Amino acid sequence: MDAASTSLSDSYRSGFVALIGRPNVGKSTLVNQLVGNKVAITSPVAQTTRNRLRAILTTPESQLILVDTPGIHKPHHLLGERLVQSARAAIGEVDQVLLLLEGCEPPGRGDAFIVNLLRQQRLPVQVVLNKWDRVPLDRKPEADAAYRDLLEETNWPVHHCSALNGGGCPELVAAVSALMPEGPQLYPPEMVSDQPEKLLMAELIREQVLMHTREEIPHSVAVSIDRVEDMPARGKSKARTAVLATVLVERKSQKGILIGKGGAMLRTIGQGARLQMQNLIDGPVYLELFVKVVADWRSKPQRLAELGYAEERL
Ligand code: GDP
Ligand code: MG
Repeated sequence: MDAASTSLSDSYRSGFVALIGRPNVGKSTLVNQLVGNKVAITSPVAQTTRNRLRAILTTPESQLILVDTPGIHKPHHLLGERLVQSARAAIGEVDQVLLLLEGCEPPGRGDAFIVNLLRQQRLPVQVVLNKWDRVPLDRKPEADAAYRDLLEETNWPVHHCSALNGGGCPELVAAVSALMPEGPQLYPPEMVSDQPEKLLMAELIREQVLMHTREEIPHSVAVSIDRVEDMPARGKSKARTAVLATVLVERKSQKGILIGKGGAMLRTIGQGARLQMQNLIDGPVYLELFVKVVADWRSKPQRLAELGYAEERL
């Protein structure tokens, strides 16, 4: 090996990593934890990730572009099929796969499908047994054994992680980096997502809607960011970023729920979203939210494209 090939720039690594796993296993939480910034929306309700999101993690040794895959939108009997579809689409374009499994639950039906699918590929695969914080100490060996059976025919490294509190994550990043191909930084190091900020803001609002309304307002809600402007300091109020956004729903009854008694629900949603946005842009935000009924917006391609959902079918 000559001197040049051992220099730092030559050994820099970069590439794409797909996060694959059942809905709710913690893919989006892991993306946020690794990137150290809120770029993917998470929810105790499954199926919140709509757009394929690429989050960018830059370290001194590597740049990892994490591809968070959308959730599965069909009932249980189609789970395996859908998982395979979504996994297949994602692994076509990456250098490595992170298979997330729910360490605190026994392996599920879909997991075996994915394991089989991934075994037919030549891509490096590493396993994350996530939610390891939820497995009591005395149950950990048992949990490990259940997954050892599932992964029996593979030689994939297994990492125990908590996407929620960051446990095991630095080790995971090191292990993933080590298996990436050599390559340069593909994005500027300060960039954490390839999605425009407006879309991230819209997703933060949608997350609050899902969080606070749960079952009543299902997936028929969309958010458009109408304006983002700098508000100069005036009198006692500091300079802020003003965001005007509209929440679209399909029915009048949904509008009522979203606004709540005396506007209470919308205020709660707005407050939560505003705090998240302040983290995102690292500065004070003034947020004004409107709710609008657009019957059947999901079947209007024009509307969908405006909302940034052009590529994924809902
Ligand atoms: P996704 O559907 O795979 O993207 O899952 P999410 O990232 O949206 O997470 C689903 C739920 O699991 C959320 O309520 C998360 O807070 C929770 N969660 C994710 N990772 C962990 C973890 O490591 N430990 C615990 N206790 N909860 C987690
Ligand atoms: Mg998700």
